[in-house]
Amino acid sequence: MDYYSKEISKLIQELSGLPGIGAKTAQRLAFHILNMSNEQVQDLAGAMLSAKQNVKYCKRCFTLTDEELCPICKNAARNQKQIMVVENTRDLAAYEKTGKFDGVYHVLHGAISPMLGIGPGDIKLKELMQRLQTEEVDEVIIATNSSLEGETTAMYISKLIKPTGIKVTRIASGVPVGGDLEYIDEVTLLRALEGRTEL
Ligand code: ZN
Repeated sequence: MDYYSKEISKLIQELSGLPGIGAKTAQRLAFHILNMSNEQVQDLAGAMLSAKQNVKYCKRCFTLTDEELCPICKNAARNQKQIMVVENTRDLAAYEKTGKFDGVYHVLHGAISPMLGIGPGDIKLKELMQRLQTEEVDEVIIATNSSLEGETTAMYISKLIKPTGIKVTRIASGVPVGGDLEYIDEVTLLRALEGRTEL
């Protein structure tokens, strides 16, 4: 990075630390930013800072929101007794986009991965179990990804919930193995949801 001045190099370095941004893209973005007006850069930086400072976990479902309770948890028209368990907020958004699921969610923020050293205590699983104790729940739909980690997590959760007598289902594996939920089209998602089986 010796071709650039210190300030530019620093900007490129920061940008290349973002997921999916390689060295080339980081350079392109850096020069794009330098060409933006002061106001545009301020808006961009401000949006990042404001989101970081104001977005927190919904105290019930742990999705990312800027309120105590997210709009889905607050919505009385949704079936509050049906909880879909997803790995992250992007997966929740993927199901919301189908517009066909009217239950509520629980966001784990990860999946169990012995290989990466991520255990049950590292995801929002204890919080799910606490919810099941305090809320009246008819069904827990496990919609973790069909990756090894997602399947491990699904199995682990179903074993925990089974003794409570609450119905536990798993979305159908029409979802390609290793596929991230957010990249799967709505039709496939719906088919996976409709074809769910009891564990
Ligand atoms: Zn919520």
